[in-house]
Amino acid sequence: MKTLQSVTSCLSDYDPHALPVALARTIINDMATPVAAVEKVALRAALGRVLAHDVLAPFNVPGHENSAMDGYAFAGAELAGKETVALKVAGQAYAGISHDAPVAPGTCIRIMTGALLPAQCDTVIAQEYVEVDDEDAALIRFGAAVVKPGSNVRHAGEDLALGCVALPAGRLVTPADLGLLASLSYAEVAVRRRLRVAFFSTGDELRSVGEPLPPGCVYDSNRYTMYGMLQRLGVDIIDLGVVRDDRAALEATLRSAAECADAVITSGGVSVGDADYTRELMARLGEVVFWKVAMRPGRPFAFGRIGGSGSDADPQAGPGALFFGLPGNPVAVMVSFYVFVRDALLAMSGAAPSPAPLLRANMVTALRKRAGRSEFVRAHAQCDALGHWQVNATGAQGSGMLSSMSRANCLIVMDHDQGDVAAGEAVSIMLFSGLI
Ligand code: AMP
Ligand code: MG
Repeated sequence: MKTLQSVTSCLSDYDPHALPVALARTIINDMATPVAAVEKVALRAALGRVLAHDVLAPFNVPGHENSAMDGYAFAGAELAGKETVALKVAGQAYAGISHDAPVAPGTCIRIMTGALLPAQCDTVIAQEYVEVDDEDAALIRFGAAVVKPGSNVRHAGEDLALGCVALPAGRLVTPADLGLLASLSYAEVAVRRRLRVAFFSTGDELRSVGEPLPPGCVYDSNRYTMYGMLQRLGVDIIDLGVVRDDRAALEATLRSAAECADAVITSGGVSVGDADYTRELMARLGEVVFWKVAMRPGRPFAFGRIGGSGSDADPQAGPGALFFGLPGNPVAVMVSFYVFVRDALLAMSGAAPSPAPLLRANMVTALRKRAGRSEFVRAHAQCDALGHWQVNATGAQGSGMLSSMSRANCLIVMDHDQGDVAAGEAVSIMLFSGLI
């Protein structure tokens, strides 16, 4: 098992007081190891799960040569040297009902999409190109130029060849994958067990939904955004509620969280003053560092491992849990989650890396940006009539203002070294829709 110290000591530019986002991500992802346990689930239940092994095609798909069109099947050699081709219709083939008799020279068969091609045929002409000459549809004519030998035929194995990797290990199963697995007749598949993620909010000022709200207190919203974000990731969620700013309560909750979960996420209590308070506690519980990440929003961040020995020397100690101490401010929680936690949890789930895709969009108005930190600006993006993406910040960006996060449909992602952006200039955006 890797230790945080071994990961950070390899980095020459590691400074916990001014840590660039990219470096923080590298450290976190280096510590994220996939859960080992595998279980078999019924095909439908595999949606959104992570494939434990490569899934191989046990046969060719399609299994045999078949027609890609409704039309007429014949031997491509019939086209040679002709301007107009005339063929007698000698039989028919439907999907699931083949034509088994030999197809003699000068003849063709009526064929429907998906029907097997008789051995003597290698070409299909679509019915739209054919003149049916006879009253009882016994003769067809068509221009030889409208079709080439081999046209409109699906070849055996052209979709998936026998033995090929149909879906790789680490794949997050999509609706298309469910169909693919069904086409290979897999009634069940092996997936990694779901990741177990425990979380709680910290703060004496927090009240739960429905409780009276004394002056100076706020309702705990982070547990709800956290629930939503984790739910979308498909992990098992363990909600441990609100924990007061009390050392003993915090320690007890962290210990029990690390026992039942693979990852523990908290919000609040990692800013400068609080960090001193919890630093000593964390040092007892495991290996946790407190960072000031060069980013906005979301500067304070704690990361490490709770429980477990942190080394292979003591297998009895168990693996412990990765710990993500997010800042308390509601928007900082969400941004930190998407920037640092999402990819790490996916990696721990065994999923192949799939960073959230970035799109380029043009700024409607100018944007100030200080070089030397990453900034994530809540924004609204839309496609104009010409198909170009335009993006505009959603007003005030206070890191406690959840309403502007709710109004946004994307984050403008401004890298560490980027400076001010002029109106009309292109920026990178991370769209919320499609983020799992
Ligand atoms: P902290 O990081 O604990 O100093 O909290 C920073 C700010 O975020 C304070 O204004 C807190 O009241 C607020 N905050 C912390 N936790 C939550 C929460 N769970 N829900 C809503 N606001 C919170
Ligand atoms: Mg607090």
